[in-house]
Amino acid sequence: MTDMIRATGLRKRYKDVEALAGLDLDVPEGQVLALLGPNGAGKTTAVRVLTTLLKADAGSATVAGVDVFADPDGVRARIGLSGQYAAVDEHLTGYENLEMVGRLYGLGRTAARDRARELLERFGLSDAGDRPSKTYSGGMRRRLDLAGALVAEPPVLVLDEPTTGLDPGSRVQMWDVIRELVSSGATLLLTTQYLEEADRLADDILVIDHGKAIARGTADELKAQTGGERVEVVLRHAADRDRVRRLLEPVAVGEITVDTNGRELTTAVQGGVSSLRTVLDGLESERVEVLDIGLRRPTLDDVFLSLTGHAAETDESGTDTDTDADADADESGTTGDSTKTQEAATR
Ligand code: ATP
Repeated sequence: MTDMIRATGLRKRYKDVEALAGLDLDVPEGQVLALLGPNGAGKTTAVRVLTTLLKADAGSATVAGVDVFADPDGVRARIGLSGQYAAVDEHLTGYENLEMVGRLYGLGRTAARDRARELLERFGLSDAGDRPSKTYSGGMRRRLDLAGALVAEPPVLVLDEPTTGLDPGSRVQMWDVIRELVSSGATLLLTTQYLEEADRLADDILVIDHGKAIARGTADELKAQTGGERVEVVLRHAADRDRVRRLLEPVAVGEITVDTNGRELTTAVQGGVSSLRTVLDGLESERVEVLDIGLRRPTLDDVFLSLTGHAAETDESGTDTDTDADADADESGTTGDSTKTQEAATR
């Protein structure tokens, strides 16, 4: 299988920040690779280099067989890019935006109009097509932006955090649209902070941190590396903590983490439901009062904690920059509290 995107040893430094520290990646034709990483991991920098918007300090890259550094125009003619912030002209209608993009790509007047109508239809924007795009919701703008990236029918699509900041409903709609693109044969490089998004859309996930790849695999492989499912127990009384820790030990794979108030214990387990049953039996026979207990799949935080030893990325000012990821993870039902996990992990 030919690689439609291939990069080797990409490096980019901004003063004392090494945004890309020797990144290698490849996306075979017709496949979807998700670049997954926390804020500041280097995802956008990688995308900007591969889409010719930024020059790397070192390394090499080809897109659809064209050298990114030697022939940036050739690369631009073969890619569609949809960024984190939708690049639509707010004063134009959806239709006018798409028609303009078509004209800029050199389509004739009729072809540009037909393509605009076709894409509005495909992205569920026909009814809103003749309204100024400033009246669109965030999800509609993103869809319009993505439609714009498809006007010239590029063989390679690059989507930079396509659903960051969208509400859960719009996110699911966007996933449907992207899945449809993929089923029609596009090669896609996608960046995301959300494991669930990578899980739903990608054939393969490349986890990056500090500008380098730290793991690659399918969502299930990454989750399995993280120790599979978790049992989580919330106690009524913190005083029961040590007893419950002892009950968890026989089923635990690796560390048992305890949150800051000492009432919530979590551990990866191998046996899924049977591990949960063992813990439930133990709790019952020891008469431990429990507020909540359950089995859950690993979250992005769990994967990060396991791969990097840290759950949330912290910027230079020391501020936790992962709050968006947490908020969105909560919305999509994959709860994750990085601060808590991080504190627990350092115990
Ligand atoms: P996010 O999820 O927040 O978009 P990201 O993984 O896309 O994060 P990048 O935007 O690629 O990360 O940034 C990687 C690192 O490079 C960060 O530490 C960032 O602060 C730094 N950086 C990016 N662009 C610049 C710039 N123009 N000048 C200085 N530093 C930069």
